[in-house]
Amino acid sequence: MSNQADRQIAIIGAGPAGLYAAQKLSAQGYGVAVFNRDIKPGGLVEYGIFLDKHKIKNGFRAQFRQILDHENISYFGNVTIGKNGKIRIEDLLRWGFSAVLVTCGAQGTKFINLPGETLKGVYHAKDLVYHYNQLPPFSGYHFEIGKKVMIVGGGNVMTDIAHYLLKYRDAEEIIVVIRRGPDEVKFDQKEMLPIISNLDLDDFKTEMKRVSPAMLAIGQDPEAAEHWILAGLEKACAKEHNGRILLRFMQSPKEILADSKGSVVGVKLEQNALQRIEETVIARGTAEFSQLDVDTVIFAIGDSVNDDLELPMRQDEIAKASHPRYMVEGITFEVGNPLTGDPLPGIFYAGWSRNPSTGLAGIARRDGVFAASAIAEFLSSTDKNSSISADDLYRHLDELQVYYVTNEKLKQLESKEQAQAEKLGIEEYKYSTDEEMLKALGLALKP
Ligand SMILES: Cc1cc2nc3c(=O)[nH]c(=O)nc-3n(C[C@H](O)[C@H](O)[C@H](O)COP(=O)(O)OP(=O)(O)OC[C@H]3O[C@@H](n4cnc5c(N)ncnc54)[C@H](O)[C@@H]3O)c2cc1C
Repeated sequence: MSNQADRQIAIIGAGPAGLYAAQKLSAQGYGVAVFNRDIKPGGLVEYGIFLDKHKIKNGFRAQFRQILDHENISYFGNVTIGKNGKIRIEDLLRWGFSAVLVTCGAQGTKFINLPGETLKGVYHAKDLVYHYNQLPPFSGYHFEIGKKVMIVGGGNVMTDIAHYLLKYRDAEEIIVVIRRGPDEVKFDQKEMLPIISNLDLDDFKTEMKRVSPAMLAIGQDPEAAEHWILAGLEKACAKEHNGRILLRFMQSPKEILADSKGSVVGVKLEQNALQRIEETVIARGTAEFSQLDVDTVIFAIGDSVNDDLELPMRQDEIAKASHPRYMVEGITFEVGNPLTGDPLPGIFYAGWSRNPSTGLAGIARRDGVFAASAIAEFLSSTDKNSSISADDLYRHLDELQVYYVTNEKLKQLESKEQAQAEKLGIEEYKYSTDEEMLKALGLALKP
């Protein structure tokens, strides 16, 4: 912890939003303590971005390393703040942190409460993504995945899941069910490149023919939509696997069907109609039902924020101050009292904690940097009443028996993993349990 900086800020979460906020605040001379649930920093950059995107991941990792090496920044990995940990936000403020920035990402699962949603063989994308990227404890979970898989949702996470199923799970058929039409798909063309060669083109054209009348009825151009979706074909990555992908538009799952042993055998779907309301196209159920036989279902419909931090919530999101004091670029980064709309003094939020499942890492970075500006404004307009010294913080953590991993230990972990990768002749080696990581560092295991 910086001794020369007289105002200390606690950042909760070391994904891109938190780390780039730390960079900005530390460059302005503030002391920053970053508390991160995971031992390693990076959040979804480390544990979300597709496992073989080594170049992108390594680029971010190098930047994160530089940030954490800044003398004004202290890193406390393996420390959960909130109701699942030993430290609460109010403790941080009481100890003398001048402000708290919440950048915990979107850790909640969006359930749609369908019959059968909790069956074996039904998964939510985040859990599987954490699993294949080796985030403990998800790394150790068993995901039984069959040959015929339904993915619900048509965004970038769907493309990663489909890629994983084809490349690492030998899926034979992936059926992507999308609530609205071809004009409303959420994936980027670039993210389709690894899987577009697996799209069954005959089937796609038949599906386009099926949904074209509904598109035309609301003034959409089916040919243009088809052209947009297929644009990636020219630049498609080499086909590495034979599984085929089928897109099914304007349908929503209504029930997941199981056999007598509780294994998934299919999904009951409802056909939707499209309706334009001003600029927005919405899907409405038509009460026409069909059934598709699949053995696995994966929901890739985005994640939500949960109440782990015990902050006031409004409709599944952290409550925003409706009378903010330190807006940046017209955006509010202050958490608010949902009854009065007033900001909770000194409590800010950014990244996917503010805007769940929205945007790539660059967007989270920008959000963190803006939030840092809002915090700097807040600090310059408030009197310094108390501060926390490095010694006091370590004393509090020791008293609470918090087992943290420092930046120095993190560097040892990085060296050990790198040495292991070199020894095995592989691009990347990751310890897949907290126990292995802590043991490699000679640290005590969690009590
Ligand atoms: C499947 C998938 C693939 C993606 N692929 C790409 C890609 O290819 N390129 C790209 O640019 N972006 C990609 N993204 C998006 C990108 O990862 C996010 O935009 C970004 O990581 C969000 O940053 P964040 O800092 O808000 O949250 P996160 O990255 O989620 O970080 C949150 C951090 O908070 C910590 N935390 C959580 N709860 C607590 C707590 N209670 N106490 C302390 N710490 C806590 C976590 O340990 C984590 O380190 C992908 C996202 C997903 C889901």
